[in-house]
Amino acid sequence: MPTIDYLRISLIDRCNFQCQYCMPEGVDLQYVQQRDWLTRDELNTLLQQVFLPLGFCRFRLTGGEPLIRPDVVEIVRDISQLPGTQDLAMTTNAFLLSKLAQDLWEAGLRRINISLDSLEPEVFQQIVGGRGRSRWYDVWQGIQAAHRVGFSPLKLNVVVIPGVNDHEILDLAALTLDRQWHVRFIEFMPIGNDSLFKHRGWVDSEQIRDRIRQRWGLQAGTVTGNGPADVFQIPGAMGTVGFISQMSECFCDRCNRMRLSADGWLRPCLLNETGQLDLKTPLRQGGDLVQLRRQVGDLLAAKPDINFKMRDSGVTGAYSRTMSQIGG
Ligand code: SAM
Ligand code: SF4
Repeated sequence: MPTIDYLRISLIDRCNFQCQYCMPEGVDLQYVQQRDWLTRDELNTLLQQVFLPLGFCRFRLTGGEPLIRPDVVEIVRDISQLPGTQDLAMTTNAFLLSKLAQDLWEAGLRRINISLDSLEPEVFQQIVGGRGRSRWYDVWQGIQAAHRVGFSPLKLNVVVIPGVNDHEILDLAALTLDRQWHVRFIEFMPIGNDSLFKHRGWVDSEQIRDRIRQRWGLQAGTVTGNGPADVFQIPGAMGTVGFISQMSECFCDRCNRMRLSADGWLRPCLLNETGQLDLKTPLRQGGDLVQLRRQVGDLLAAKPDINFKMRDSGVTGAYSRTMSQIGG
């Protein structure tokens, strides 16, 4: 088993987008109330008193959309300055990034992953929802701002959906030809919008690799990061392409992460709720932090079994919570 030292922290479960693959159609999600969000101070306490002493040293801020959390820059500053933080990253849709990229950089953020499912503004709007001028332009500005400020390698996440954006695989891969960017193709999972999944299906990473290979060739590559992506490079390209193949290849055995939800639930596995632990209630009730650390330590020790249970069950079901709610 790998060392489990990576925590994905959801700052908020709300989002300013409604991506087809992430948010269920016609379902009103029950959002966490603001009073139930872990506050900046609570996050600091949990990291300093519970997670860092247990060996967690790599953190990713996510959501929902982390940039709509009003104190996101302060939270970045707090975590980046904690002695023991070795890596701090963020996953965002970049809609608000053009205004925030510089502040986030100055606050200590150095790595950023941006969701960009299409290069065509109309297709993009169809995926993320909303009316009027396509949100693609703001996202593209956000990506440019992150690039200018110095985030490197800039990582772009693409969820490939048959009949929606799979015709853009080569265009998206071509972004890496003359940029030091890392474009990661993610297999669509039946989390969030099960009916879309049933209707459209998903595209296997190997099919995507084949299309890129036939056009340019493909060789092994490397990129910094903590994730399960398989990394390749188009020969002669400045950047790299990655593949996250959680549907076609189970990587439960390699899972090195836990997730903390916006309202303080610690979850050892994305796909099942076994063992999840409420950290907020004991924290707010002035509970014993040493005891809390012990409980998290026990969960850490139980994680390999929880992973194996997941591996043996197969990743085929539909899940009751969306990635935006769990903290994708
Ligand atoms: N809002 C931010 C964003 O979109 O980058 C961060 C949160 S989002 C839940 C994190 C990641 O989960 C995104 O890269 C998104 O593409 C991915 N995601 C959401 N639903 C998914 C699904 N059903 N299958 C695969 N990836 C999914
Ligand atoms: Fe929002 Fe990210 Fe989900 Fe899209 S994938 S709806 S941007 S949380």
